Amino acid sequence: MQEKGTISIHTENIFPIIKKFLYSDNEIFLRELVSNAVDATQKIKRLATLGQYTGELGDTTVEVSFDKDKKTITISDRGLGMTAEEIKKYINQIAFSGATEFVEKFKDAKDANEIIGKFGLGFYSAFMVAHTVEINSLSYQEGAEAAKWTCDGSTSFEISEGSRTERGTDIILHINEESEEFLDKWKLQGILDKYCKFLPVTIKFGTKTESVEDGEDEEGKKKWKSIEVDNIINTTSPIWTKSPNDLKDEDYLAFYKELYPMSEDPLFWIHLNVDYPFNLTGVLYFPKVKNDFDFQKNKIKLYSRQVFITDEVKDIVPEFLMLLHGVIDSPDIPLNVSRSFLQADGNVKKINNYITKKVADKLAELYKKDRKVYEEKWNDIGLFVKYGMISEEKFAEKGKDFVLLKNTKGEFYTLPEYKEKVKAIQTDKNEQTIYLYATDVNKQDAFIQSANKKDYDVLVMDSPIDSHFIQHLEGKEEKTQLKRVDADVVEKLIQKDDAYANLLSEEQSTKVKEIFEKAIDNKSYSVEVEGLNPEELPVTVTMDEFMRRMKDMAATGGGM
Ligand code: ADP
Ligand code: MG
Repeated sequence: MQEKGTISIHTENIFPIIKKFLYSDNEIFLRELVSNAVDATQKIKRLATLGQYTGELGDTTVEVSFDKDKKTITISDRGLGMTAEEIKKYINQIAFSGATEFVEKFKDAKDANEIIGKFGLGFYSAFMVAHTVEINSLSYQEGAEAAKWTCDGSTSFEISEGSRTERGTDIILHINEESEEFLDKWKLQGILDKYCKFLPVTIKFGTKTESVEDGEDEEGKKKWKSIEVDNIINTTSPIWTKSPNDLKDEDYLAFYKELYPMSEDPLFWIHLNVDYPFNLTGVLYFPKVKNDFDFQKNKIKLYSRQVFITDEVKDIVPEFLMLLHGVIDSPDIPLNVSRSFLQADGNVKKINNYITKKVADKLAELYKKDRKVYEEKWNDIGLFVKYGMISEEKFAEKGKDFVLLKNTKGEFYTLPEYKEKVKAIQTDKNEQTIYLYATDVNKQDAFIQSANKKDYDVLVMDSPIDSHFIQHLEGKEEKTQLKRVDADVVEKLIQKDDAYANLLSEEQSTKVKEIFEKAIDNKSYSVEVEGLNPEELPVTVTMDEFMRRMKDMAATGGGM
């Protein structure tokens, strides 16, 4: 049997066009070919379960190998294989139709970055690194004959009898000159680690040396020897594919370490699992953050059926949750399309809402379950909660129940609790309840002390996100204003106790005030003379809250 043919595509020079677009991301060829091998393996297992294949399954490990001298990379599977007819159908027609579509869509596209890596070119991506691709396959079907297909990167192909005697498929890539970097152990290992680490079928890439115990020497010391073992790339059942009921804390922590070897243990995690109205599984971790500027975005990895796709999850995960770490796996996220389509996609929006809700529910649960523990973690959690409430209306609605305010005494209050606590004495003539806060408990210590003497409470709002959170609270909490503890309003707030009456005459007070004002010579400050009670600050210099915020904003450029 020997047959020559032409691949039925309309664009004759399809190869150079695709190569040009995909060049910078050509490593995905390996992901595509290994996932095809995995698909073929899953299919034969399925057929066996259904009783449609009754032969031996045997060892179904997928093997990746390379030969530096022959300049080949081979991907071998023991999947269901293909007959010559099937190769013509699936490779010539189906695989290449994806490529045709690609060219038609993006022939005139200017910005290749929009497309690269978003378009699943499947089998076709082999031609990004190979000048010739060979398929050697033997189908599982009774009486099937081995088939060999060769294509040299033009649109013509050749099919002849193959030599394979075991069920399955070898894809042999004859690597082109520009792609010889891929004929390297570490290069291939790196790509496999990145894309194939959690594929559901065992993937082997050569062997590796391992040290094992080898009895004891005469002095009773352990002896070691080196042995060659299979170099297995993947964990076939990563934790996100399991049921939360079957997992212990250690499992989640170990998986975290596997994903981010250098990181501290996370604070807690959320196991995502939904199958309606879309499919999504995953585990999201709350990392420990040392300070607001230390958080690392883009740590969430996106998978589709256990194949790594990207760690650019910007459009799928709400902005404020970009601080989380972990894995999301969804076959429903369209990956073969451009970014603008992704943003408009209905599923993506639903996934976004689902994750937001899950995170809010988890926080509410933690808060309810053990408030002490929750308070202890607040320094780390607070950032997410505040950021979330500011940026996401839906989250703000839920966050009201578990956001905490911390005062200078280290006590924590929910929003309703806090209102209740300060309402009685911190409400002014206009029925506005004034929340006092300090942005720097050391620098503002004198003011804090003074406020505390009057039984006012002072909140700690000392992180960069707090200035935004303060505005958020003023917008949301009814009849509430927040004033920094050194703002002029504090002095005017509440009727002063007689015991603290001014010991100076009015005339004396005015004189002292004038002296200070002259010395400061700046209209944005105001001077209050309290008197000479030894427990009081005799004179306080304050700034109008509004003026101060303006000034702070100018100083920080208004951003976070
Ligand atoms: P997709 O995987 O999205 O279907 P591909 O271009 O990757 O698209 O592959 C096209 C088709 O070729 C597959 O659907 C499958 O039928 C067939 N195929 C590719 N690789 C193999 C393989 N290793 N074993 C069996 N069939 C394969
Ligand atoms: Mg494929």
